[in-house]
Amino acid sequence: MLIDGAWRAARNGATFAVTNPATGELLAEVPDGGAEETQTAIDAAARALPAWAATPAPARATLLRTVAARMLECQERLATIMTLEQGKPLAEARGEIAYAASFLSWFAGEAERIYGQTVPASVAHKRILILRQPVGVAALITPWNFPTAMLTRKLGPALAAGCTVVCKPAEQTPLSALELGALLQEAGLPPGVVNIITTSDPVPFSTTIFADDRVRKISFTGSTEVGKRLIEQSAAGVKRLSLELGGNAPFIVFDDADLEAAVEGALASKFRNTGQTCVCANRIFVQRGIYARFAERFTERVRALRVGDGLQPDVQIGPLIDQQALAKVRRHVADAVEHGAQVLTGGAPYQAEGLRGAFWTPTVLAEARPDMLVAREETFGPVAPLIPFDSEDEVLRLANDTSYGLAAYFYTRDASRLFRVAEGLEYGIVGANDALPSTAQAPFGGFKQSGLGREGGPTGIDEYLEIKYVSIGL
Ligand code: NAP
Repeated sequence: MLIDGAWRAARNGATFAVTNPATGELLAEVPDGGAEETQTAIDAAARALPAWAATPAPARATLLRTVAARMLECQERLATIMTLEQGKPLAEARGEIAYAASFLSWFAGEAERIYGQTVPASVAHKRILILRQPVGVAALITPWNFPTAMLTRKLGPALAAGCTVVCKPAEQTPLSALELGALLQEAGLPPGVVNIITTSDPVPFSTTIFADDRVRKISFTGSTEVGKRLIEQSAAGVKRLSLELGGNAPFIVFDDADLEAAVEGALASKFRNTGQTCVCANRIFVQRGIYARFAERFTERVRALRVGDGLQPDVQIGPLIDQQALAKVRRHVADAVEHGAQVLTGGAPYQAEGLRGAFWTPTVLAEARPDMLVAREETFGPVAPLIPFDSEDEVLRLANDTSYGLAAYFYTRDASRLFRVAEGLEYGIVGANDALPSTAQAPFGGFKQSGLGREGGPTGIDEYLEIKYVSIGL
């Protein structure tokens, strides 16, 4: 673990195993940190805070830019480590490293633009000054599906703002976080500014951060279920929270869509990272006039996807993260079939020589319905349910009929409809003829139970800043 600028084992020597989800092979043993190590990391972050907050913004920015550049220089090694521990195809892992580095570059720029304001006062003898200052020590908790990008999306703005941090990567993917820690060290980050705790049990970590008054901010990306627990826990210390939670993205194809663009978009949105992204198309609504042609072309493309170990060239679909994830996919497909959906391709686990992970054959389900499990819950796997619809009003109602509100997509060539639907979707991110909207320059986050706050974009740094009003009497 990285604590106070040094690499440390757990105090009691405990470790846990990191394995390759494609082969089951043991990759590494990493320290199994607990409450004691978390406390030591918070102490270090609190000690480092005043000097880091006082470091001139251009110096903080330079450091972030240096690390971003080093990430790109080490892209191949970092991507290989990610594929080994997470399973995604190497080409996607390379893409994630570049995407992750872009958050450091973007927030390096933002560090230099943490402007304050002066506001005309209502009386002649006063001046109103507004300052933006770092919130303090921040705890960053990240999931396994984007092990590097979810971390830099938080680290970038936190460090740019002048906060110090204690990070906890997911149990399945700590190696990518530790590699990033090594690059931060190498770039000359002062001790204690970034601390990384690896652990097989998140509870002692979270209990410790919530109990310590010096931790002023928690930023979490993960499931809605855990997010809700963190909201409850944050009450006692009134801590600021940013939550990036689950989704149930609708992907709508209207009769007037460009068929090829919609097919390619649905393929990218649904099957990237083996369907394990929070912004994955989860429900594909297709208007009746284009339904048969879309289903045929889409199924053809899905059938051609190559499944296997992400390290093999040309593999497009890697393993699911674990057997529990496979069991959920199996349950969703079985429920859909039992209630009348038709399997156009896939529908079963994928088996091949040398593969011992949780592989599922890319699946298309025709004549799915909104009340099926596959449409009500986040499947988080390579299963595409096609749901027919008739009218724009009907599909907007169906698309919004969920407690989630992260990402939504639609394809149309009608400019008026494009505005109507974009405005009618109750989602934080809307891709209009765009299946891959995520970028460091844009705000990322959800409505409803998909979260609180936004990461990236022009407002991302605000999550790590306090606003201070200074009233000056003359
Ligand atoms: P998860 O089980 O909620 O875990 C996410 C992180 O929280 C992990 O580091 C986990 O540690 C930790 N954690 C679990 N229980 C905790 C607790 N009681 N206190 C503090 N930390 C705790 O989610 P996941 O299965 O890894 O990730 C998939 C979910 O994340 C999906 O719902 C997906 O949609 C969502 N996601 C959202 C976004 C977004 O930007 N909105 C992005 C990516 C993923 P352990 O690994 O040790 O359990």
